[in-house]
Amino acid sequence: QCIYRIEKLTKTYGSGPAAVHALRGVDLDVDEGEMFVLLGPSGSGKSTFLNILGGLDRATSGHAHFFDTNLTDLDDDGLTEYRRESVGFVFQFYNLIASLTARENVSLITQISKDPMDPAEALAMVGLQDRIDHFPSQLSGGEQQRVAIARAIAKRPRVLLCDEPTGALDSATGVRVLDALDRINREIGTTVFIITHNAVVAEMADDVVLFGDGRIVDRRSNPARKPPL
Ligand code: ADP
Ligand code: ADP
Repeated sequence: QCIYRIEKLTKTYGSGPAAVHALRGVDLDVDEGEMFVLLGPSGSGKSTFLNILGGLDRATSGHAHFFDTNLTDLDDDGLTEYRRESVGFVFQFYNLIASLTARENVSLITQISKDPMDPAEALAMVGLQDRIDHFPSQLSGGEQQRVAIARAIAKRPRVLLCDEPTGALDSATGVRVLDALDRINREIGTTVFIITHNAVVAEMADDVVLFGDGRIVDRRSNPARKPPL
């Protein structure tokens, strides 16, 4: 089933001579349960694209359908509801609350969700079953990022949007974070998008999309990746 159908999406920041054309007409169909990696140089539009998919920003023109809902038609309240119910975000920086344990950081989200996971279950999914009562300062960078991922999945979003999730980590630690995303995609079936500069990450994806100057300039599927269970 098609989770996203993107057509002729454009985004322009500002106007007149200072206008920045961040997206110049992007088309993309995404099936539910796929894992996508977005590659491309800095400034090519990857974050802008992910922010529009996640309802954090609005397109200038074109369509972005999430199932039958056209995100470009939603008002601010509709977009907020979409974001809350359907989208999990993971960023380069973890933004955990220092005075709360891993479990409590995840609980903040599950308390306001309709059908949340048990926080301990979400933390086990990312391999942190032995760290649930630790504070962020007692965890490594990679572990903190995995808490952030547990927080993002605990509300059972349909899609997980990750903007440079390993950008602040060394490569060995980054691999464990990526393994957690891979496991979530396979075991829960969450659709996952990952922006990365790391070409190794691309091997883990079903699909690799290359951005260049506000457009998708290449899309390759990865026949080597095993299908989700
Ligand atoms: P990357 O996403 O590749 O790390 P950056 O975040 O450094 O790239 O941003 C790339 C470019 O986008 C920079 O030139 C930066 O000034 C510009 N940029 C990013 N966010 C904004 C913003 N909110 N307002 C204006 N320019 C921005
Ligand atoms: P990437 O994620 O591939 O690095 P971005 O989507 O961050 O690319 O940026 C695409 C272009 O849009 C860049 O030229 C950047 O400077 C510009 N841009 C991004 N965000 C803003 C913003 N809030 N205001 C103005 N320009 C922006």
